[in-house]
Amino acid sequence: MEDESILSVKDLCKAFGGVQANSYVNYEMISGELSAIIGPNGAGKSTFFNLLTGYHLVDSGKVYFKGRDITNWAPHRITRLGISRAFQVSNIYPRLTTYENVRQAILAQQRRTLNLFVPANQLARQDTFELLEVAGLSQHADMLAGNLSQGDKKRLELAIALGSRPELLFLDEPTAGMSGEETHDTMELVARLNQEMGLTILFTEHDMSVVFGYARRLTVLHLGSVIAEGTPEDVRTNDEVQRVYLGEEA
Ligand code: ADP
Ligand code: MG
Repeated sequence: MEDESILSVKDLCKAFGGVQANSYVNYEMISGELSAIIGPNGAGKSTFFNLLTGYHLVDSGKVYFKGRDITNWAPHRITRLGISRAFQVSNIYPRLTTYENVRQAILAQQRRTLNLFVPANQLARQDTFELLEVAGLSQHADMLAGNLSQGDKKRLELAIALGSRPELLFLDEPTAGMSGEETHDTMELVARLNQEMGLTILFTEHDMSVVFGYARRLTVLHLGSVIAEGTPEDVRTNDEVQRVYLGEEA
């Protein structure tokens, strides 16, 4: 359905000691969007994702997924409902192969009815190979995940996030540490997941050319508060946004 609310965030607050990491954040997403949250280091972007996915408890405020209140649900329950995220700092098992990392992610989310006729090591094999293919990792299936390049680790992180078959995907700096070419390939993949698989995607990113090239709507966080929201062009020409970013460079 078009124009269906998938995510609705009301007055979300989170403090760490004296730091107000998120302060009355309001945010709405329509099903099918590809949008970005930007803001200087420490603005509260990762905290926002952590609150939405149950990794931190909110101090106050509400999170709704398709109209359902999921505030402070446990992460695995939120994942089961159809929300997944990739971490800014990689969350892979370095001593398992690339294949096993993805397979574990798929198995973790399947409510498995034990099938005695399928050997354990064959479970989810087909799905795993499909996801490796989607993420461009097929040729590294047997490599220990810890030995992958930085770019491939981030793509593995993405494949793991897809393992639970989400409808809504959060990507925290999906291209961090990547070369220009790896960044391009990864963002093309993100765009395809949005366009061809219909995933609703929200990402954070510090490279403005990536943000402006891919996000159709931008939200700017600064010191835990939303200071601007709109099309890339609206945000680019916003006075306060320019002050915040120029201030950071000074
Ligand atoms: P961003 O992802 O935009 O760089 P973060 O959400 O990581 O920002 O951080 C926002 C603020 O909250 C920062 O001042 C950071 O130091 C603080 N913060 C984030 N997570 C924690 C935590 N687990 N414990 C204490 N302070 C934190
Ligand atoms: Mg962050």
